Amino acid sequence: MNTKKYLLTENGIPKHWYNIAADLPTPMVPPLHPGTKQPIGPDDLAPLFPMPLIMQEVSQERNIEIPADVIDAYRQWRPTPLFRAHRLEKELGTPARIYYKYEGSSPAGSHKPNTAIPQAYYNKQEGTKRLTTETGAGQWGSALSFACAYFGLECKVFMVKVSFQQKPYRHGLMQTYGAKVTPSPSNETHAGRAILAENPDSLGSLGIAISEAVEMAAQDPEAKYALGSVLNHVLLHQTVIGLETIEQMQQADDYPDVIIGCAGGGSNFAGIAFPFIGRKLRGEQDVRVIAIEPAACPTLTKGHFTYDFGDTKHLTPLVKMYTLGSTFVPLGIHAGGLRYHGMAPMVSHIAHLGLIEAKAIHQLNTFAAGVQFARTEGILPAPEANHAIAGAIQEALHCKETGESKSILFNLSGHGHFDLQAYMDYHADKLQDYEYPEEEIAMALAGLPSIGA
Ligand SMILES: *Cc1c(COP(=O)(O)O)cnc(C)c1O
Repeated sequence: MNTKKYLLTENGIPKHWYNIAADLPTPMVPPLHPGTKQPIGPDDLAPLFPMPLIMQEVSQERNIEIPADVIDAYRQWRPTPLFRAHRLEKELGTPARIYYKYEGSSPAGSHKPNTAIPQAYYNKQEGTKRLTTETGAGQWGSALSFACAYFGLECKVFMVKVSFQQKPYRHGLMQTYGAKVTPSPSNETHAGRAILAENPDSLGSLGIAISEAVEMAAQDPEAKYALGSVLNHVLLHQTVIGLETIEQMQQADDYPDVIIGCAGGGSNFAGIAFPFIGRKLRGEQDVRVIAIEPAACPTLTKGHFTYDFGDTKHLTPLVKMYTLGSTFVPLGIHAGGLRYHGMAPMVSHIAHLGLIEAKAIHQLNTFAAGVQFARTEGILPAPEANHAIAGAIQEALHCKETGESKSILFNLSGHGHFDLQAYMDYHADKLQDYEYPEEEIAMALAGLPSIGA
């Protein structure tokens, strides 16, 4: 292969983010106002986000320049390494070549700083004093706390109560970066108080924590809100992962036949996959792409593709996406980052167009894959990333049956150093698989908002 073929990066770090909106065969539909149900414009989002991020949200431009200050920050951990999983291949006895992009080498331990840094940067530029956000497993909260410390912003994090209890060290990390962390639902917002009035023992959910963070930002003129996944601009920032990987695969003189990522809100999956899907859409090179989700929260495989709210208390705009219903509270699986009722509208759109496949995998299967990976490759994966590993192992074992020597690429979205309790519970046979929560999902889907055609 010609080594200068793509020229996507300088010293391995991309100079632009890749916006897949420019290459979509059919355009996405607009978000709707939660009250009027009419399409919203940039001004409607201005209380929550700084204008440069809103413009990225609606941009149709293919390449969006990364500011020099953001590239400087990225330099601390980017480009992240791409590894060939030789020992895992050998252990599986597969003729497949398995590659993984490792995003756990960032300061916060996941892919999330890729967007936390630019979000904090644009807010600082626009004069924002503090950012509010929610966090599930704590990875997004840690990433935003790190980014706020980097650019000198205050940070307020609503952490889903069950995770606050399960993962005290994530809370400790956020505090160390200078953030204020509150278990959600809390008494600090109308949304939180309303949930607690209905159910004082509520363990919270991402949907509830989003309501709290949005409400607080909307009421404070010096504050804005930051979201760690789902939105177009977040997926855009994450494309640094895939852009780097295209060049790294080229150095390995290989190209993926199959790309696999775990999908919660869809950002790390989009990050690795979109630049490759863009090449496919432009007729440059074909690729198969698979999103893996938890069987306990099967958004892409069992959800409806329709307009729904992003949060439980219906403060956010309506977006068209695969959803299990905004009132669905996913069961307490340890991959907290995958417990979200919806899916990024962009990922949903390309799934609906048939450009990607989706598979749901049970929790015990994912931990078995994570343990096998740790024992062969030495890296302890985050429980979310175990879904991608389990998906890659399934593909590799399929290759073993058919004798095909495919190239499989997956995104290892983060390390699991804060998730050892979950691993210890797994080793002690204390983890369980949850049945597909059919009744709860049917109930939540019955409550979907009706939008005129
Ligand atoms: C947050 C998180 C996820 C899930 O979020 P996406 O937006 O779907 O990427 C997956 N893996 C890790 C390590 C995370 O921190």
